[in-house]
Amino acid sequence: MKKIQNSQISWQDNTPISEQFDDYYFNSDGGLDESQHVFIAPSHLPERYQQCPESYFCINETGFGTGLNMYASLQAISNITEIKRDKPVYFFSSELFPLNVRDFQKAAAVFPQFESLTKQIVAQYPPPIKGFHRLIINAGEVYLTLMFDDSVSAYQQCRHQTHVWYLDGFSPAKNSTMWQEPLFRQVARLSSPQQTHLSTFTSAGFVRRALQAQGFSITKHPGFGKKREMISANFTGDTTEINNTTENSKPWFNIAKSKNVKHVAIIGGGLAGCTSAEALARRGVQVTLFDSENEICQHASGNLQGALYAKLPSKPTLGGDLHLTGLEYSLRLLNIYQCFDKQTADQCGLLQIATNHKEQAQQQDLLDQGYYHSDVVRAVSAEQASQLAGTKIEFSGLYFERAGWVAPKAFCQKLIDAQSKISLRLNTQITAIEQLSDDRWQLMTNTKDAINQQFDAVIVANANSAKQFEQLRETSSKGIRGQVTHVPDSQSPQLNTVVCGAGYISPALNNEYCFGASFDLHNQELILKEQDQQTNIKNLNKVLPELSTQLEFSQQLDGKVALRCSTPDYLPLVGPAPITNAFINDFKKLKKDKNWRFTQTQAPNYKGLFLNIGHGSKGLITCPLSAEHLACMLTNQPSPLSNNLSNVIHPARFVIKQLIRRAI
Ligand code: SAM
Repeated sequence: MKKIQNSQISWQDNTPISEQFDDYYFNSDGGLDESQHVFIAPSHLPERYQQCPESYFCINETGFGTGLNMYASLQAISNITEIKRDKPVYFFSSELFPLNVRDFQKAAAVFPQFESLTKQIVAQYPPPIKGFHRLIINAGEVYLTLMFDDSVSAYQQCRHQTHVWYLDGFSPAKNSTMWQEPLFRQVARLSSPQQTHLSTFTSAGFVRRALQAQGFSITKHPGFGKKREMISANFTGDTTEINNTTENSKPWFNIAKSKNVKHVAIIGGGLAGCTSAEALARRGVQVTLFDSENEICQHASGNLQGALYAKLPSKPTLGGDLHLTGLEYSLRLLNIYQCFDKQTADQCGLLQIATNHKEQAQQQDLLDQGYYHSDVVRAVSAEQASQLAGTKIEFSGLYFERAGWVAPKAFCQKLIDAQSKISLRLNTQITAIEQLSDDRWQLMTNTKDAINQQFDAVIVANANSAKQFEQLRETSSKGIRGQVTHVPDSQSPQLNTVVCGAGYISPALNNEYCFGASFDLHNQELILKEQDQQTNIKNLNKVLPELSTQLEFSQQLDGKVALRCSTPDYLPLVGPAPITNAFINDFKKLKKDKNWRFTQTQAPNYKGLFLNIGHGSKGLITCPLSAEHLACMLTNQPSPLSNNLSNVIHPARFVIKQLIRRAI
């Protein structure tokens, strides 16, 4: 797996040229006209948007480049019709060599008429991190998913049906590796018969023949400017076979279409619940958010501050990818909701200090492997670390410039306050959920009353308590006790960055430091323990001796204790809730042959029941992205996650692993 490289750009007047491909991104005089001629006009976007029967309208592109096709597309649609948040426009674009943000800004400046759009993209533009990056434009009227990867690998990882294809990505003569059968196969797989339209600037014979072979009927048109011909095409093929092959390979992860979800109940008002509520409400779905306490974020999401960062493996893993792309998504959401006010959150940077030889070797290995761009992480000496932190540090480490801290409760409150479709019901403990004959859900409370509304779907986001519901008894989660310590910053010692060693500490918030946390697998007691307090202080002392001696620790314990909700693989459980017995029965052949090919394509999940739990101590980076994924699942919109990441957090993964291991 190679890391993503930015494109090497040279500028000829106002035109960017790719050094890798020796080709122009757009025509200096008429780039926009060319985009209109080749992609926008033949696709009849406004009509297609209006007539599209689905809950979203999607354009897939190969080669995002400067984003010009996207700007022109959105302009074409919104000139004629209003884009609604309950029928948003999705723009997916693969990009193997993303422009760096400076070149991107420079290219955007050539088209000042799109400034309101390009400003939003610049503010959310990801560093070169391989994978999917979801950007939210115009408060959720438009979603841009940048897939920093080769086009074939990127689209192999998608499962949404698209309405329009733009095949861009430099000419076949200059970029022969992209224009090949595997790409056309993915193009067909994600197309719908009689619905999907395609256009491209090239009319090369082999491209036409390959598209025809995949089921496209081609029309030739005059090309733009000096180019003689271009093509557009309608998909009239049959995707049954190709879809069956894909869906049959791991049917347990297939996600059924949701039925017209208008009102969702979310149980649990922590990070998972609040972010899920926001992502659904942003799409126009009515949400009732229940919590048993008298305020939101009273349990594991209730620490005063949490570190916003992803501890990276030296070589990419699916878990590491989830955490890193999750961190980037959280940063975007925090930015959109204006949370970087130093009360709700601060993108102040984070130092991960190596306090022993083993950690130093691990950090060196991560740097030597070279998978991560210096915008994400870089090495710092003890002196540099001390300077960044503003206090003495005696060890070298890694510096994550984009990381920081978040006050989870203030963040969640902002999300809830901003979305009028969320109604919050505190002091309401849900003790049972029941599916009615029309598939809707009824919720029961601790006073044995039924909530006097029925819901089209339920998201269970109450961490370790999920198992209390009959349907979720088999859920693989466990509580891990964590205690943080609070101490006033009495002599105003300055700490400028978050610092992680054995624990973590953030810069003081409201004249108080919050640090820890302990990690106790065997004790579930929810009272503060002196021993954990001492461990937290000892860990702090090792990493930040100067700061530690300036602090005045009182005899009285001050802090917070909670149970994190963890899973056997330390990744969250996000997706449809499996009917465990039905899974065991339907997929029992896996016990004999782990490669068994099933004919069944449906997975036996509860209709309309979803899980969003198990975020451990990483909720700040996994909850927002998981919420976006779930909200897309419930509204049948395209997921922000690659198939691999969607599968790696799927709640059914443990029952399937157990079947393969013959453990059940
Ligand atoms: N659509 C772009 C726009 O509106 O500005 C222009 C695209 S530019 C002509 C072609 C883009 O395709 C470049 O950014 C290039 O890096 C990208 N590209 C080339 N080969 C690729 C591949 N195999 N996968 C993904 N992107 C690729």
